[in-house]
Amino acid sequence: MKHASQLVPWAFACALAVVNCSSLLQRLQSELSPRLSGSGLLSETAPARWSEFDAPNPGVVVNVATESDVAATVRYCTAHDIPFLAHNGGNGWATTFHLDKDGVMINLAALNHVTFNADKSQATIGGGSNISNAIDHAYAAGTLVQTGNCNCVGVLGAILGGGYGNLMGTYGFGVDNVLSLRVVTADGRLRDVTAASDPDLFWGLRGAGPNFGIVTAATVKSYPAAAAEDMQAWTGNLVYTSDQLEDVVQAIQDLVLTPDMVIFLYFLADATTGVPAVIAAPFLYKGDAAAGRAAFAGLYAVGPVADTTAIVPYDQWNVASDALCTRGSFKPGWAAGFQDMVPATWRAVWDAYVAFQRLPGAASSGVLLEAYDLTKARSVPAGSAAFPNRNVRFNAFAIPWYNDSSLDARAAAFGGAARDLLRATSGLPRNQTYVNFAHGDEPLTEVYGDGVPRLQAIKERYDPGNVFDEWFDIRPGGTSNTSKASYYY
Ligand SMILES: Cc1cc2nc3c(=O)[nH]c(=O)nc-3n(C[C@H](O)[C@H](O)[C@H](O)COP(=O)(O)OP(=O)(O)OC[C@H]3O[C@@H](n4cnc5c(N)ncnc54)[C@H](O)[C@@H]3O)c2cc1C
Repeated sequence: MKHASQLVPWAFACALAVVNCSSLLQRLQSELSPRLSGSGLLSETAPARWSEFDAPNPGVVVNVATESDVAATVRYCTAHDIPFLAHNGGNGWATTFHLDKDGVMINLAALNHVTFNADKSQATIGGGSNISNAIDHAYAAGTLVQTGNCNCVGVLGAILGGGYGNLMGTYGFGVDNVLSLRVVTADGRLRDVTAASDPDLFWGLRGAGPNFGIVTAATVKSYPAAAAEDMQAWTGNLVYTSDQLEDVVQAIQDLVLTPDMVIFLYFLADATTGVPAVIAAPFLYKGDAAAGRAAFAGLYAVGPVADTTAIVPYDQWNVASDALCTRGSFKPGWAAGFQDMVPATWRAVWDAYVAFQRLPGAASSGVLLEAYDLTKARSVPAGSAAFPNRNVRFNAFAIPWYNDSSLDARAAAFGGAARDLLRATSGLPRNQTYVNFAHGDEPLTEVYGDGVPRLQAIKERYDPGNVFDEWFDIRPGGTSNTSKASYYY
């Protein structure tokens, strides 16, 4: 569904069927292609996305080969009022996308270079690199970068919203590790943005990044390994029966995380039996079995029925979650941040999950929780980046995963109920949701916090025409394909 301001000549002609919209490709072949670094960069085939639910549906894909291609495409689309959207890992599940057949997807996949400075203390990561690519390069170089925990996710897609990851306890949020960003802004300029060069834009990009431009590369801190143990962690799955749920939840509530510890909780079907399971996944950086069992003694005391924990090298940390990266199907997400694990809340979430998961074709649905030590993240001043959630202890989301759109209403009922339950006992004075996990119907202050007015002022300066409006549009009354009214705060 289009925002009124986007009913511009080309889109308007398409809407009225004055022109054949399939000729958008022909038009771009003749007008845009000569401005790109090579021929053959245009296509009508969109890259596969993680979720097909409310996914962007472009008329043309520009498979950029250089950062100049990004700038040329932005300049062209802006000049001709053609909607566009950057595609990186393709995992964004929010319902805020509205790119349609009259629009252009800028596929960043070829911008996947990862390089390091001489002492490996800095990594420069292309705007189209996914996490597995970045980790593979870092591992080969003998250094570590703070990325997210799923291989398929765009490194920058995660960081521009905040950037949670296994190394967070030690190194802080993704946004805290950014040194500089190369960004194509709405005017088509390629800028090197640092805290010194453009303090407001640098601030806004680190939490609300997709609202301000397309990042072609980021230079981030990198942490050279000094010893073999720096390149490993102790992690794996502890599996429980559903009647142990309350004890598992209480054990997580009681866990005192140190910077090297992360805890995940999953409601997921057993891969072989399809039976829903309660799975805790502890992570201990540089740990071994003895240290891991000691650090997560409370979870061992509950008595897991299966234990796959082991010492895992850095380049394999995310392999266990590769199944979660499966492309396709409908996977809308509903998320909440909260301060306490409440057993009764999680029992009710479990009941809602099991009721949906048993529906035909919905077995892969899940609920996921994560918690990190926040000492390092909180040592950074709260207002130093637009990312607003340094105070939030736990984040969780429900993912109905299905193929038949007749389940849409049931999926929304499950996801919405899980979110309501988590919000009801959140222990937070107001709802706070990580923008990269949010559904798309949240008020702006829920995902961007008190920074909304400053973000809106930066928007006026760098993108007054609001060409970057697909990802939790920060302007009052900005486009949403759910409830427009909910975007007023
Ligand atoms: C399986 C899975 C695992 C996840 N794990 C984590 C995790 O460990 N940590 C975490 O923090 N989050 C995680 N997330 C959430 C993730 O951060 C968001 O889904 C994020 O939006 C995905 O970015 P992407 O590049 O993969 O997706 P896309 O859909 O390509 O991008 C999402 C939005 O960001 C914009 N964008 C992406 N790259 C750029 C760029 N270079 N410049 C400008 N805009 C850009 C896109 O235009 C789009 O609006 C996970 C999500 C999934 C589905």
